[in-house]
This record gives sequence, structure tokens and C-alpha cells, in this order.
Amino acid sequence: MNIHEYQAKELLAKYGVAVPTGYPALTVEEAVEGAKKLPGPLYVVKAQIHAGGRGKGKFKELGAEAKGGVRLAKSLDDVKSDAEEMLGNTLVTVQTGDAGKQVNRLYVTDGVDIAEEYYLSMLVDRATGRIALIVSTEGGMDIEEVAHSTPEKITTITIDPAEGFQPHHGRAVAFGLKLSGELNKQAQKLAKQLYEAFTALDCEMLEINPLVETKDSNLLVLDTKMSFDGNAMFRHPDVAELRDISEEDPAEVEASKYDLAYIKLDGNIGCMVNGAGLAMATMDIIKLNGAFPANFLDVGGGATTEKVTAAFKIILSDPAVEGILVNIFGGIMKCDIIADGIVQAAKDVNLSVPLVVRLEGTNVEKGKEILANSGLPIVPADDLGDAAKKIVGQVKEAA
Ligand code: GDP
Ligand code: MG
Repeated sequence: MNIHEYQAKELLAKYGVAVPTGYPALTVEEAVEGAKKLPGPLYVVKAQIHAGGRGKGKFKELGAEAKGGVRLAKSLDDVKSDAEEMLGNTLVTVQTGDAGKQVNRLYVTDGVDIAEEYYLSMLVDRATGRIALIVSTEGGMDIEEVAHSTPEKITTITIDPAEGFQPHHGRAVAFGLKLSGELNKQAQKLAKQLYEAFTALDCEMLEINPLVETKDSNLLVLDTKMSFDGNAMFRHPDVAELRDISEEDPAEVEASKYDLAYIKLDGNIGCMVNGAGLAMATMDIIKLNGAFPANFLDVGGGATTEKVTAAFKIILSDPAVEGILVNIFGGIMKCDIIADGIVQAAKDVNLSVPLVVRLEGTNVEKGKEILANSGLPIVPADDLGDAAKKIVGQVKEAA
């Protein structure tokens, strides 16, 4: 689960982290009111979308000459005109894809005099089972590019969660950022505060880019992105409340209501599978046969008729879908029950694209019989390879 920059900064401030003062705004008036509460004379007006690269982004509705999604404003009038230009328009950045994201919220912050920009991030490293803390002297830039061209400028420190944050971790961070004196001490303190926030809030990722050294020698978090482990959100109702549904894919939001794990992808073959591993294998085998999956969808172990119907509707809400492959192993669930669900759902949604079904497991013969006698043009498949070949073939034929 992702949150907005201003929300992340408010959370981090509770752990003692220094951030510039700022006010979120949903309207031009609120943006100006927010700016009035700041000392000035420099303000920053920032688009709040769940994507990075806003500064270098472009607004679809404005000309190529127009400024991006992070703007320095030198007066209240500038704050007003920037807010007017940004709100309601679509910002395209390297992270949004070509469609871009509509800007519905702004964050007006106190402008900072920057002396240096640094990079710091933390994430759960599954390979080591530890928390990786990554720092670089090259802040404000695309970190993937830094990693590619000057990997020596990146330092990675791993922290064993059982041991927790130790003073030497803080010293390694300050050393990696090549800081001395007061700033070195500030970096050690900041690293500890960030680690506390990261672990206490069940974060998946925390990125600060840039972390800045101000002209008066203080470290300040200028930009941050924070994401959380969705499965841990029941422990943090206050964080869960920060979820902004308007930033998420509507089909994924709908799927979460039915406890379906659905992720939209770019292909044209919809998949409905039980079990995440089988779903991954299904997507692989579709690709092996020369087509691309339109989604990942795990209906889970206890797939009911309601769930299967909802899953069909969600798959078909994607206009790119030209065929559906159902791949179900009836382990806990019996195949005849699943077949009933598929037939009912296919009738309910007036299925108009080819449907190939591969069933295996308990009561598979009964299940196949139900599908065959349904009167619907369902194509049965014997195994996974056969199923993939059939659905790819059917879609190509229909095209
Ligand atoms: P991003 O483009 O989405 O990563 O947004 P950032 O918040 O990182 O802003 C992009 C860039 O704008 C930063 O790297 C800074 O160079 C600049 N910027 C942002 N806030 C300020 C500020 O308060 N003062 C100055 N001088 N520059 C800023
Ligand atoms: Mg940034």
C-alpha cells in the first residue's frame, strides 16, 4: 500500500525526523491559505500523486514549455497560478506510464535553500531476510541510473532485524554520505529514527530522494516515498486510513472487496487461477505460447460461485481481454462445485469471448460433464500446456 508524500512526511515527523513545514491542499484557495501560513518568500508547490519523477514530469494539457509537478514559487501570486495550472490536470512522469495521473491534491511547502542533495532508502531485502539501507552522495537523481553508471557511489548496509539498529549502522550511513562534524551526527540520528519508523509501521519501502543539506547545515527530508506491507495494515488502522483509492486501479480495488488477488497486466488473455504459484505458472505458459496475460488473478482456495462471478466481471472489465483461461486445481474445492460456479458466472456475465477451462483434482469427471452439458461454448483442456495452446489459438482465430 502506498501513501502520498505529505502523509509520509507527517508520519516521519512523529518519529522526530526533520521535514520542511507544509500544508496539503485540494483547491487553489487552500493552496494559497497554506502558503500564507509559511514564512516565505520561497514556496514549493508539489503535485501529490503516487508516482515519482514529478519535478521532471509534464502536464498533458499544458504545452511542453510549461513547468512540471514540483514548482518553486516566489510569491503568493505564483503559488496561486501554479495551483491553478496543476489541479485537475494530468501529470506524466517516468513512473506513471503514458496515461499519466490526474493531480487532485497539492502540497505547499516552505522553500529550502539547498547546499547538497543525497539519497537514502530502506527496504525489506528478501534475499538476505534483512533490512537493506542504501545511501548515496548522488541525491535528486534517478538511483537506477546511478547504480548503473557509478555503482561505487552507492553504499548498502544490511541490518538484521533480530539485532536491531546499532550505533555502527548509523556511523556507516554517515560515512557513506561522506559527512563530517555536526552533519555526521545528524545523519546517524536520522538513520536511527528512520529505522524505528520503518519497523514500527511495517514498511516495505522508504525512499528519501533527495535528503538535503541546507545552506545553514541541517539535514532535511525534502522528498519521500513510503509503502507498507498490505498484510500488516490490520495492525495500523491509522496508516490504513491514509489509503487513497483514487490513486489505485479501479479493477484492483473492486477485486480487493472480494478478497481476490488481482493485478492488471498488459496482455489480452485473462486468467482465473487458484493459488498464486499456479497463477504464475499459467502466465508463464501463456507467454511460452506466444501471447501475453491480461492479468494475474488468484481466486484463492475457497472459490465460491459469487467469487468466480466477481472474478469474471473484473477480468471482462478490461477491454483488452480477448479470451479467458481458467486453470483450477480442485484440492479443497471439488471440481463439480467449481464447474457449477463457472457455468453460472459465464451465464450471468453473458460471456462473449472464448473460454478455455482446465480442471484437475477431486471429482474432475463430474466437473467436466457439467461444463460439457452447459450449452455454453466452453472449451475443455486436458492439461496446462493444452489449455494455453487452445486459448492462444482461439484468440488468434477470432482476431
Ligand atoms: P520528484 O521529482 O517527484 O522526485 O520530487 P522532489 O520532491 O524530489 O523534487 C524534485 C526536485 O525539486 C528536487 O530534487 C529539488 O532539486 C527540487 N526541489 C524540491 N523542493 C525544493 C525546495 O524546497 N527548494 C529547492 N531549491 N529545490 C527544491
Ligand atoms: Mg524526489
